[in-house]
Amino acid sequence: MLYRNYLHKVIIMPICNVCGEEEEIVTKCKTCGTNFCEYCGDVEAKQCIECFGGSDEDGDDDWL
Ligand SMILES: [Zn+2]
Ligand SMILES: [Zn+2]
Repeated sequence: MLYRNYLHKVIIMPICNVCGEEEEIVTKCKTCGTNFCEYCGDVEAKQCIECFGGSDEDGDDDWL
């Protein structure tokens, strides 16, 4: 059991597959299925930054 009391809490945080950080909320990309945090894609569109950014892969981040 991964269940502990609050003094020794074990919380399984979802991990953003884009930035690798643990986040409280991640969204699953509807295109590629990766989990991303609110900083790594468009949560409302349910697309990670890679899919939302379209085809440019040269590191431009002018997608906003
Ligand atoms: Zn992220
Ligand atoms: Zn994606």
